[in-house]
Amino acid sequence: MNFKALYTINYGMYIVSAQKDGRFNGQVSNTVFQISSEPPTLAISVNKQNLSHEFIREGGYFVVSVLSKDAPLSLIGQFGFKSGREADKFAGINYSTGQSGVPYIQDYTLAYLEARVTKEVDVATHTIFIGEVVNAEVLQEGTPMTYAYYRLVKGGAVPKTAPTCIEVLQEGTKVVKAAQYRCTVCGYLYDPEKGDPDNGIGPGTPFEDLPDDWTCPVCGAAKDAFEKEN
Ligand code: FE
Repeated sequence: MNFKALYTINYGMYIVSAQKDGRFNGQVSNTVFQISSEPPTLAISVNKQNLSHEFIREGGYFVVSVLSKDAPLSLIGQFGFKSGREADKFAGINYSTGQSGVPYIQDYTLAYLEARVTKEVDVATHTIFIGEVVNAEVLQEGTPMTYAYYRLVKGGAVPKTAPTCIEVLQEGTKVVKAAQYRCTVCGYLYDPEKGDPDNGIGPGTPFEDLPDDWTCPVCGAAKDAFEKEN
């Protein structure tokens, strides 16, 4: 069996959020699907270990914020590599709430869709939540971010709990050979050819020349948390 076949499947990039007892949580997700149009129905896949899983199950609603192509790694990092058990993921985020009281992201978001959970399917490590769309709005025109764009162009990393996290995907990003550095906390790969434009680091900047106070654009880890890739 060739696991690389899985790498050919296309996905988008979303923040899925939920609410429980007035507390908000959200996570980055690439597994959001429209299942039917009458009634409009979505499915999402969520790792059972994630706090969002508990919030969606107990709150009964989830909201999908569709990220635009220009969403910065810091936004994705805030929702992808921090746990809502330790931090309020919505701190410092420009958000509003939908009819169900569940928050959606306002910046770098093309549209949001609010769904009431109607069914759950248990799939080993994950639960597929199926929800009927009760409210949806377009916030701005633009191009949605794809998972491939995030991985290959933005140099983005994937948490171990993501449905699509398999080791072959990590190998798939080794596009250039020398002087790349990988964050040991989140797996983000610093590629000097691309730099870190979100944070003012231009293309062609070697890792060694990054300022001492530069931090991982995804998870915020310090420079010494990085290891050279071969
Ligand atoms: Fe990191």
